[in-house]
Amino acid sequence: MSIEVARAAIERYASERDEYGNRLLREVIPSTMGEPLLYSKLNELLQVCEAKSLKLNLTTNGSFPGPWGSDSGMERLLGSCSDIKISTLSYETGGLPYSLWSENVERLMRCRSRTENVAGNGLSKVSLQVTLHGQNAANEMAAVEWAKGIVRFAENLGIDRIKWNRVVFLEKKSPSLRERFGVDNRLFEMIRQEMLSGALRSSKVKYGGSLFFEQDAGLCSVGGKCDACPFENEVWVWPDGHEDHCPNPERRWGNSL
Ligand code: SF4
Repeated sequence: MSIEVARAAIERYASERDEYGNRLLREVIPSTMGEPLLYSKLNELLQVCEAKSLKLNLTTNGSFPGPWGSDSGMERLLGSCSDIKISTLSYETGGLPYSLWSENVERLMRCRSRTENVAGNGLSKVSLQVTLHGQNAANEMAAVEWAKGIVRFAENLGIDRIKWNRVVFLEKKSPSLRERFGVDNRLFEMIRQEMLSGALRSSKVKYGGSLFFEQDAGLCSVGGKCDACPFENEVWVWPDGHEDHCPNPERRWGNSL
């Protein structure tokens, strides 16, 4: 996306007000298709947001490439974002060595503690984003042990929240993917209960994500309850500037129900 398209959309929505004069635009989410810290215009995007007093809600793979991996780059992100969500998929899929991923998370948290002491509040929350799939949740015992490791890591570093998401598949995708990465709903439910009141409960880290959505009410149901869409307040701006309101990947890349 050119920075001009991004700027035009942000400035237009930032000028909209509700009937009481409150601004409708709350935050900007830089694309979930690809690694946002590789966007060559990210610095300009931050400036556009800062000029409008808007925060970025960032999801990253934890590689923190180029300037974003330095203390000053991380401090800039901490000051400009509402939430920095670091996905664990990058090391689980072999894209990034675990040691590099964890060092980056530790460094980000050190930067936050140091900056907090100087600048006080207003710094970004830091979250881990975890996808529960058949390779890390193959059975009950393996899933609990694996999740415990993540919870311990997050608690030790002072991470604010873990987003636990269920794996999802496009209808048309290969059955072998489902076979390899699919998880039985009963296993999801067991993990959820362990997190709510069992061995995976944490008093230090908040939990969220689609694991905690009620099956019928919270999850997007394609072709079903679009009149009660959980994403109705979001606007998705595409690189050519056109917009839509439905982020469901099934509609974009699968069956266009
Ligand atoms: S995300 Fe799309 S498919 Fe899902 S409920 Fe909303 S409009 Fe419907």
